[in-house]
Amino acid sequence: MKIIFATNNKHKIEEVRHLADQRFTFLSLQDIDLAGDIPEDYPTLEENALFKAKFIFQKTGIPTFADDTGLEIAGLNNRPGVFSARYAGAHKDDQANMDKILKELKNADDRSARFRTVIAFVWNDGKEKFFEGIVNGKIGLVKKGNQGFGYDPVFIPDGYDITFAEMPLSVKNSISHRSRAFNKFTSFLNKEFLNDKA
Ligand code: IMP
Repeated sequence: MKIIFATNNKHKIEEVRHLADQRFTFLSLQDIDLAGDIPEDYPTLEENALFKAKFIFQKTGIPTFADDTGLEIAGLNNRPGVFSARYAGAHKDDQANMDKILKELKNADDRSARFRTVIAFVWNDGKEKFFEGIVNGKIGLVKKGNQGFGYDPVFIPDGYDITFAEMPLSVKNSISHRSRAFNKFTSFLNKEFLNDKA
């Protein structure tokens, strides 16, 4: 069964292929010649993910899912949230984004934060379902580590005293927001399409 992942990100496609049953074939936007950024202008992760999934499903008729992720910092009223990619300006700049949150949290007592991934899946005659993955943690005082991407050097997941950027990718992937959302999604696919009642 073919499923489109409305993303241009090769790493994400590999991650979901790795987690899912081999009977599903995941296609990226490049695979269907629809590469190019789909607008993500909505005020919530749910709306952005759903818009992307619907946009591609309507063009192709092939079951499609899309994801959107945000870093939600309690002491900043859950910012940057849906604006995570471009928090410091129109251009995606990970270093500037991290510098901005470190500055905003300079005198904060509460540094708790979470990454939240939302997946929206659209299939058949416009059936829709959401899957959420969360990893709780806190924002460190300074940037540490050089693995991963985005806000990894400032995010310390609960149960660890190192940042995502200081741990091997395999460890990050075993506890991350995205893998938690992907796991829920792939379990749903097994139940819905492979009659896996486990
Ligand atoms: P996206 O929805 O996966 O494109 O994520 C939006 C933004 O959230 C990215 O540009 C990053 O700034 C941030 N982000 C998402 N996932 C991660 C992660 O696993 N580590 C660090 N930052 C992330």
